[in-house]
Amino acid sequence: MELRKTFQIEAAHRLPHVAPGHKCGRLHGHSFVIEIAVEGLVQPSTGWVMDYADLKALFQPLFDELDHQYLNDVPGLENPTSEILAIWVWDRLQSCLPGLHEVVVAETCTSRCVYRGH
Ligand SMILES: [Zn+2]
Repeated sequence: MELRKTFQIEAAHRLPHVAPGHKCGRLHGHSFVIEIAVEGLVQPSTGWVMDYADLKALFQPLFDELDHQYLNDVPGLENPTSEILAIWVWDRLQSCLPGLHEVVVAETCTSRCVYRGH
């Protein structure tokens, strides 16, 4: 079974390593949608894999660190591409979230990346 929960953060960034004149080099913002997928067995006693509320609580410190921030100022996100943000989220959740299966980061409605720990 797989559970998925999405979180939305509003944040600004710029990409420091793009070619001069590239639009992503300019300061801009996104309504990032971060989706967390957790794999596990349905527990017979509860009928669920885990409580969505627990997943929300685990993500809350990350939300607080990212929401309405300039991502380039967040340690580890000096080059805040969606890919690096997905790895950043994965690295913070994996130790406290058994069954973490996938982190999806969408920076627009049509562009998203998926990280599965490799
Ligand atoms: Zn951007």
